[in-house]
Amino acid sequence: MKTKESYLRQLPSVDELLKEDTVLKWLEKSPRALVLDALRMAIEEKRRFVLKTHEAKDLQPLALSLESEGIINRAEEILNTLTQLSLRPVINAAGVIVHTNLGRSILSQNAVKNIEAVAKGYSNLEYDIEKGERGKRYAHVEKLLCRLTGAEAGFVVNNNAAAVLIALNTIAQNKEVIVSRGELVEIGGSFRIPEVMERSNAKLKEVGTTNKTHLKDYEKAVNDNTALLLKVHTSNYKIVGFAKEVSIAELVGLGKKRNLPVMFDLGSGCLIDLRKYGIEGEPAVSESVNAGADIITFSGDKLLGGPQAGLIVGKKKYVDMIVNNPLARAIRIDKLTLAGLEATLMEYLDEDRAVKNIPTLTMLCQPISEIEKKAEYIADGLRAVSNRFEVSVIDETSQSGGGALPLTNLPTKVVAILPKGLSAAAFEELLRKNNLPIITRIKEGRILLDPRTIQRDELDAVVNSIKGIAERL
Ligand SMILES: *Cc1c(COP(=O)(O)O)cnc(C)c1O
Repeated sequence: MKTKESYLRQLPSVDELLKEDTVLKWLEKSPRALVLDALRMAIEEKRRFVLKTHEAKDLQPLALSLESEGIINRAEEILNTLTQLSLRPVINAAGVIVHTNLGRSILSQNAVKNIEAVAKGYSNLEYDIEKGERGKRYAHVEKLLCRLTGAEAGFVVNNNAAAVLIALNTIAQNKEVIVSRGELVEIGGSFRIPEVMERSNAKLKEVGTTNKTHLKDYEKAVNDNTALLLKVHTSNYKIVGFAKEVSIAELVGLGKKRNLPVMFDLGSGCLIDLRKYGIEGEPAVSESVNAGADIITFSGDKLLGGPQAGLIVGKKKYVDMIVNNPLARAIRIDKLTLAGLEATLMEYLDEDRAVKNIPTLTMLCQPISEIEKKAEYIADGLRAVSNRFEVSVIDETSQSGGGALPLTNLPTKVVAILPKGLSAAAFEELLRKNNLPIITRIKEGRILLDPRTIQRDELDAVVNSIKGIAERL
């Protein structure tokens, strides 16, 4: 009969394991330091296991797992987690298109191609090829932005929060900015208009009430220290009922009368008129340009469907002032983003192409018949393992997300899975912790997979992953 001590003595050393073929193979792919960590952790785990087992005879059935092979198997699992990148792809089956936690927008193929091309080699980021001299990084997108929005000038920074910050700081430092109380928004927990305003050194002058603000409220608040009239699109909520907000056109009228610039923080910034596709509530940027707004700010990665960026368009006089603010350098856009943004904007030159090629728009405008086809495809695949769960396709709604279109529920068809002998919460966790994580939602004890946000080339991976999980149950 073996004693606990003999089990302990028998545990292989790291040096011994390093001679094993399997481990030598790992070293070809993985950093030596991580291989050593994995081996040490696996050995230590086994040693502790032996120590905490009361009787040596209880170890006998597990003896194999204490030998080199058993330890190598465990070390491989540990190595896999150690070498896994922290930021990695997931499947969005939650049906929220611009999902803030899941990276907001996914890029068009052309955007991805252009990012790769620019990332791989040198580029003319700040070089004018015609003249053979230094050029401007912003020149790559300014003309496109002007063409797509009708604005005189355009500029880009690294996100819309930065766009708002620099615009306020440039135009209203140490001066007053008039904003409606109903528009003092908070976006995603950390962007709050009053706080950004404070950091920009502009002074907030609230007018009106939560539900109603009239033009005369702005008018009364104007004084010698007023620098700007600001309108903020209430992206992620809507005040309904007994409510009144002042339109951008009315504010522009007041601005003209009192010789004050007018800024509109649009948030999402749609470049096409979504009403054509039956989606109300998100104004196109060009409408605000036409209404005469002097500065308009919006995100690159919300409904626009490009990379994270802050876009600023408007009157040349103000855009030039913003470009020349020293803060611009601190919040400048990087070349990969610029590459993705230019290619995304290019798609918009032809609206049909934009809707076809930009995933955010494709998902938003997807006909229900196509969503249903994807749902049936997934459901059919899963029925092969239906002894583990009940599968059905049911009516549900998807959401735009990204703090846009808060009241729009997009009709969709989801795959509903009712697991057998397992709670929905436990099943949701297995999906989430899958090698390729699948993010779902639970409703009334069922897991819902919304195919609207599952890309065509992800369908098989979804089916196979769920089958794999079901088979291991
Ligand atoms: C989303 C949003 C912002 C912040 O934009 P980011 O791209 O997240 O920096 C600012 N203002 C409004 C109205 C928004 O909706």
